[in-house]
Amino acid sequence: MNKLLPLGLLLVCIPLSGQKMTNSKKAVIASIEQHQSKLIQISDSIWAQAETAFQEDDSSRILADYAEANGFTVERGVAGMPTAFVATYGSGKPVISVLGEYDALPGISQKAQPTKSPLNEGAAGHGCGHNLFGTASLGAAVAVKELIEAGKLKGTVKFFGTPAEEKFFGKIWMVKAGLWDDVDVNLSWHPSANTEADVQSTLALVDFKVEFFGQAAHASADPWNGRSASDALELYTTGINYYREHIKPTVRIHYHIQDGGQVVNVVPDYSRLWVRVRDTKRSGMMPVYERVMAMAEGAAIMANVDYKISLISGIYEVLVNRAGGEIMQKNLELLGPIPYSDQEMAFGRKIQEETGKPQVGMDSGITPLKETKENPGGGSTDVGDVSWNVPNINLGVTVAPKDTPWHSWAVVACGGMSIGHKGMLQAAKALGMTMADLFENPKLVEKVKAEYTERKGNETYEAIIPEGPPPIGNN
Ligand SMILES: [Zn+2]
Repeated sequence: MNKLLPLGLLLVCIPLSGQKMTNSKKAVIASIEQHQSKLIQISDSIWAQAETAFQEDDSSRILADYAEANGFTVERGVAGMPTAFVATYGSGKPVISVLGEYDALPGISQKAQPTKSPLNEGAAGHGCGHNLFGTASLGAAVAVKELIEAGKLKGTVKFFGTPAEEKFFGKIWMVKAGLWDDVDVNLSWHPSANTEADVQSTLALVDFKVEFFGQAAHASADPWNGRSASDALELYTTGINYYREHIKPTVRIHYHIQDGGQVVNVVPDYSRLWVRVRDTKRSGMMPVYERVMAMAEGAAIMANVDYKISLISGIYEVLVNRAGGEIMQKNLELLGPIPYSDQEMAFGRKIQEETGKPQVGMDSGITPLKETKENPGGGSTDVGDVSWNVPNINLGVTVAPKDTPWHSWAVVACGGMSIGHKGMLQAAKALGMTMADLFENPKLVEKVKAEYTERKGNETYEAIIPEGPPPIGNN
């Protein structure tokens, strides 16, 4: 009895989650700080190169080389994509992974300054902060590897280098190749304008190409001999735009006209659009997708042309994991707010002035864990596909001032200077600390897995991609 009493007290005093500042977490933080200048150098190098989807040759190589130099076994060119790789260290269970992205966005090149000025006119820029994303995640994986190497943690850590998030969605092919099959829990993060464990889903989407094939003719001399592919294109988009009146508010339909004919005096014999349908759930998206595809036939009949539809890819909405979010949130709170200098706050306010936002600087606080919304707004991510195949814990960390227009020059600017660097290092620490929690506490892994199983229910995952290799080299 006497012996049991202290144990009872111990159980009361230490939460089951074990979420306090452990020695492992201190070691994670120390590792990130020790490697800080190298991590910033890697991030800045990826930022400056700003390579777009499937072109990330240098960006993926820099990260893969760094993983290899740190003792990871690196498999390059996985799932048929030269710029995808997996870095593994350790052996046995648990297997905890973290993923990183590193692709840029076309046309938004920007210097690391708070007024709009391209670094290279017309070139790409890291308007989604993926230079920070890939580097922070790898920094966290290296910190965990050092703990495994020192015998402080047991198991396997993996870093997934995932290309082409902004276009084509490389993770789908990696999921299809079974790369997460042996993973217990995966972690991810995303650069943001606030800091929080992310427990919101994203939108499912499907991308497809619609082509119309007509007959060319002189636009004035013998237009009756012509059958216009661009007429079909116009009728098609008109149909889509009428249809907007009758879709649910959660649905989004976008199109990009890729080819509407070349010159004014030829009846165009070819036209092409990239069409995208989104909804908060795949179940809502699929019927809209079917309908928007059927409209292509209607447009083709009206314009007396032929048509072809080709699936590009489609991604799942993120399967949220609140149990994992709670672990992450506690670690964010252990880390505390990101401190900013007066110069950084001035940089942030200048960006807000330039983009017409309230000049309040960065949100340095930690947003409390939110309720998970039934119908989230916002964008889509191929992390969704990962999250239907392995429990996934998500994080957002401030790398830009409040209300910054995303995918814009303003995010590029912050990602190449200390505001972005600070967010990156904070993300690396929070990811590493959460991984340490999972390695040290099997009950947490079980809890995260149990929620995943419950949320997934009877749904079976089927990748929304055509047969064959990833569309490398396509537009
Ligand atoms: Zn992104």
